[in-house]
Amino acid sequence: MKIHEYQARELFEKEGIPVPTGYLCKSAADVKKAAETIGKPVVVKAQILVAGRGKAGGVKLASNPDEAYSIADNMLGSVIKGIQVTSVLVVEAEKPEKELYIGFTLDRAKRCVVLIASSEGGVDLEELAHTRPEKIYRDEIDPIIGMHQYQAREAAEAIGLSGKTAGEFASISEKVFDIFEAVDADLTESNPLAIRKDGSMVALDARITLDDNALYRHPEYKQVDEELTPIEREAQAAGLAFVQLDGDVGIIGNGAGLVMATLDVVAYFGGKPANFLDMGGGSNAESVYTAVKLCLEQKSLKAVFVNILGGITKCDDVANGLVRALKESNVKIPFTVRMVGTNEEEGRKILSANGIAYLDSMEKAAEAVVKSARS
Ligand code: GDP
Ligand code: MN
Repeated sequence: MKIHEYQARELFEKEGIPVPTGYLCKSAADVKKAAETIGKPVVVKAQILVAGRGKAGGVKLASNPDEAYSIADNMLGSVIKGIQVTSVLVVEAEKPEKELYIGFTLDRAKRCVVLIASSEGGVDLEELAHTRPEKIYRDEIDPIIGMHQYQAREAAEAIGLSGKTAGEFASISEKVFDIFEAVDADLTESNPLAIRKDGSMVALDARITLDDNALYRHPEYKQVDEELTPIEREAQAAGLAFVQLDGDVGIIGNGAGLVMATLDVVAYFGGKPANFLDMGGGSNAESVYTAVKLCLEQKSLKAVFVNILGGITKCDDVANGLVRALKESNVKIPFTVRMVGTNEEEGRKILSANGIAYLDSMEKAAEAVVKSARS
């Protein structure tokens, strides 16, 4: 889950990384006051959870409080990259001599955290990776030992720094890494990390993505994920994993692997999945009920495929949840159920008694659901 720049910046500040003076504001009037307090040119920055705000018009320089007011007046309430701006950060404008990049992220293939540094900050790192990959320095961090001090110094040297600046870069790198570890992040970066004329440094941007699996350890970051659709949000609250796709075949299964395989087999038979919905391994009548209800909220559905592999999950529980959800909803969409495993017989009896057809082959069920979506 992404957290806002102002939240990431707070963590930077607490850790002792220099950041420009700034205030979070929700109205243009507050922005003007903030600019007056700062008493220098400011940058008005939209607090939205997307990267590349600069290019999309979400980061603007104002030379005086009145200009800051009118920029904020336009920015607040506007939609940038599909997200409505409800707050802005007003910071003292800096005059960077040079912009660097420092970040830490997970390298899943190497099973460790990697340090990423570049002398070319301020630009999109993905873009830089394509155009000038030689400008990106990477180093692996030992998961047990953590980052060695020399690794930070090597990174500084590798991106062409020396003397006091190199020392400051190394020290900031170590702090960024400490934050990464402390909040269980899967990304912590500053882009750009600016060098001032006098050689000192200031982090002009702070970006942190938290590891969703560790969120329970950081309840202070329980917040609405703005990038989620309303159904995805509901699913999150209910503890179900839902991802919106753009097809018309609703997919419900238990276990991420099974649901992924279901998407594939539906696509194989020429169908287009509308969603990914994983009820999880130990699902019961209640989670099935919630999942079906949630799935049926999608407007463009033509058919639904429920694919259950009973293990800890019991097929009769699933059947009961299904029956209840279908009885309550008035939606007349064909359902195809494939259900095998624990208490299969009991489950099937329940489905039969309620006029719900089922299949035991995943392929046949996929073929059937694609056909029913077309008719
Ligand atoms: P992003 O586009 O979402 O990554 O937002 P940033 O916070 O990185 O801002 C976009 C760009 O604006 C940065 O890459 C900088 O080049 C520039 N920028 C941000 N703050 C300042 C500042 O205080 N002074 C100047 N001159 N440029 C800034
Ligand atoms: Mn940036």
